[in-house]
Amino acid sequence: MSNRKVPCPTCRTPVDWDADTRWRPFCSERCKTIDLGGWLQEDNRIPGVELPDEFMDVVDWDDESAKGDRGP
Ligand SMILES: [Zn+2]
Repeated sequence: MSNRKVPCPTCRTPVDWDADTRWRPFCSERCKTIDLGGWLQEDNRIPGVELPDEFMDVVDWDDESAKGDRGP
């Protein structure tokens, strides 16, 4: 019998590596979502989603033209 455990990539909790562990190698759906969200944000940055305030300051968005872009 094998009772292998792997550390959850998100929170490092030991996870049983068998068919009963639904979210392996993660310990839970939450940790899986966190991990996927992390690499998605790094890989495909989506403008307007969770940009830090500092970034907004650096870019200095032109508020007027942004509004004009969207419509009248
Ligand atoms: Zn976890």
